[in-house]
Amino acid sequence: MVDLSRPTGPRIIAVANQKGGVGKTTTAINLAAGLAEAGSRVLVVDLDPQGNASTGLGVEDRDWTTYDLILDDAPLEAVVQETEIDGLLVIPATVDLSSADIELISNEKRSYLLHDALRQTSIDRFELDFVLIDCPPSLNLLTVNAMVASHSVLVPLQSEFFALEGLSQLMLTIREVRQTANPDLRIEGVVLTMYDNRNNLSRQVEKDARDNLGEMVFKTKIPRNVRVSEAPSYALPVLQYDSGSLGAMAYRHLAREVIHKNKNVAA
Ligand code: ADP
Ligand code: MG
Repeated sequence: MVDLSRPTGPRIIAVANQKGGVGKTTTAINLAAGLAEAGSRVLVVDLDPQGNASTGLGVEDRDWTTYDLILDDAPLEAVVQETEIDGLLVIPATVDLSSADIELISNEKRSYLLHDALRQTSIDRFELDFVLIDCPPSLNLLTVNAMVASHSVLVPLQSEFFALEGLSQLMLTIREVRQTANPDLRIEGVVLTMYDNRNNLSRQVEKDARDNLGEMVFKTKIPRNVRVSEAPSYALPVLQYDSGSLGAMAYRHLAREVIHKNKNVAA
């Protein structure tokens, strides 16, 4: 098993929030595209049985999936696919993964399977700078696998009423993972998504988030932008679908922040 501590190995980031529809998948796809555009090599691991990240990245062939990687010991070479986008790779998911949560329960290494799978020695040959894991909308064993496998957790926060409510449960899970399997797990940051400048509620959520979470909140806010929501139906990140859109520009900014933060991480 390879040691993926920095600076040699890729930085592994779980994109997690147990609420559905907050922008996890959108952020995984478009942050990955932003990182790739900046010259990084990025692998998106689709860990949601809905497979939205795979669809959004234009994956057609789903013969080999995340399920095979974590439950059938498939080699990385079998499951990692190139996308149309330079430097952007993906491990797709299908609905098969929905049974994984139950199958994992009886497995002795249930929390470590993704961790171990991503530390196969063959990961080196992909020359990755980042791995982004798109988590399901739940704090189930799949999400715990993502947190155990990762260096950090990036939390999309929808600029909506009750946005901060679910956060304490998420933080509790992160704390539990730190106490058991992954003491070095960091918070990469919280990113405000679907932000609407004209909406008082958006501004209030931002204020609450910055007051309560301080530096943890990314400077970049992702605006609500129709081009972002259209892009997946063209099987493209918004950076490719409409490069000059506000959504594309915001995800480029977020990528820059993530790159900057990770330059300062020693190990
Ligand atoms: P999750 O993965 O957390 O369930 P998604 O990323 O799938 O959330 O986003 C939920 C919905 O919101 C999708 O239809 C997506 O296209 C839309 N969406 C996400 N971010 C934006 C945005 N910045 N502007 C407009 N629509 C967005
Ligand atoms: Mg999703």
